[in-house]
Amino acid sequence: LWHHCLRQLESELPEQQFNTWIRPLQAVEEGRVLRLLAPNRFVVDWVNANVAQRISELVEPLSSPPGLSIIVEVGSRIVASPISSTPVAPKGFTREPPSVLGSRLNPDFTFTNFVEGKSNQLARAAAHQVAENPGRAYNPLFIYGGVGLGKTHLMHAVGNVIRGRSDRARVAYVHSERFVSDMVKALQHNTINDFKAAYRSLDALLIDDIQFFANKDRSQEEFFHTFNALFEGQQQIILTCDRYPKEVDGLEERLKSRFGWGLTVAIEPPELETCVAILMSKAAGSGIELPEEVAFFIAKRIRSNVRELEGALRRVVANSQFTGRPITMDFVKEALRDLLALQDRLVTIDNIQKTVAEYYKIRVADLLSKRRSRSIARPRQLAMALAKELTSHSLPEIGDAFGGRDHTTVMHACRVIKELRESQTRTNEDYQNLLRTLAG
Ligand code: ADP
Ligand code: MG
Repeated sequence: LWHHCLRQLESELPEQQFNTWIRPLQAVEEGRVLRLLAPNRFVVDWVNANVAQRISELVEPLSSPPGLSIIVEVGSRIVASPISSTPVAPKGFTREPPSVLGSRLNPDFTFTNFVEGKSNQLARAAAHQVAENPGRAYNPLFIYGGVGLGKTHLMHAVGNVIRGRSDRARVAYVHSERFVSDMVKALQHNTINDFKAAYRSLDALLIDDIQFFANKDRSQEEFFHTFNALFEGQQQIILTCDRYPKEVDGLEERLKSRFGWGLTVAIEPPELETCVAILMSKAAGSGIELPEEVAFFIAKRIRSNVRELEGALRRVVANSQFTGRPITMDFVKEALRDLLALQDRLVTIDNIQKTVAEYYKIRVADLLSKRRSRSIARPRQLAMALAKELTSHSLPEIGDAFGGRDHTTVMHACRVIKELRESQTRTNEDYQNLLRTLAG
């Protein structure tokens, strides 16, 4: 099997690559597992990154029954010496537990290039402590928050620090969907013991987006045991989720309660200043000069998450490089025109609440609360009026989104704001400012 694969790779790869990375591999076929032993971690990483996929493709049609797991790890075939019966590994090649395929850390996600702001300060600090003191600071560390806010980035940053301190450290990053599918495969192919062993031998296990465990009972069961084993061994566990763990439906209680044993921290959507800082930092990172005015413009218009900010910046940069035009305000407006138009149609109640809360320096929770003090009630009415104006939601829907209020309350709010805008320049100004922020 491996022979065939080798011949094929030899014909596909440049000779030097093949000699450096592939030739040193030793293959061990153990039941449904093809183990590739590499002399060091560099080789493991390179193989995982560059040819693991191809190897799978090559061996898959030849394995019967189909479905062979491939594990690339540091090690050397242990040869029983004829003199003593104790197996000895060649000097320098200590056996490290397997690096599970697909569990690579992204070296681009570091603490250094993670821009800190109020919205992510807590999560960042917690992650940093965990990186400094894995298994002992907070276990598990549970980071939750909306999409594109930096959860995965922080998680990798921790992994990179741990790995950077010792390349012996066994850190695995696994998306929870991947965990599920690997487990299913392992069950089918009777390699569940390898699967278990691989996970339990880790120094740190990073599982991303655990909301995907919802309603997957067998996976939850398996993960429960993995969790316990790691926890007892003081091996670090880091988890992320798109919402607060208790709010994930279809997740076993015993898991939810364990997730709270360590520290649970939220990442919030970044404030305007943080968005600007992120844009400036990403631009600087790619050697591009971004006028602050332009950064503010982009940040103001694209607030929902960092991933979209990055996308917009990439677009601007690509456009500017392609046309050779400098990045000015006019240029950016043009380059992002369709994106911004799309964004405008995407004004959500959520967004309105956030923007209004920020504008008045109160919390979104206040807007949804029962509090009636003027300093809260007025912004709440304004936000409702904006929601009516800018979204296509019905009055009852808007009422619902504001802490379950009645549609007559929303109607009343719209009327009050209309009158106030006519009688008070202050209210009208606030309204206009918010409108501009929200819809450009
Ligand atoms: P999530 O996992 O929460 O959906 P990611 O971690 O994938 O989000 O982040 C999306 C993108 O935004 C990534 O490219 C990440 O590097 C970037 N990003 C998010 N937050 C920050 C930050 N505070 N500083 C720098 N980049 C960030
Ligand atoms: Mg993520």
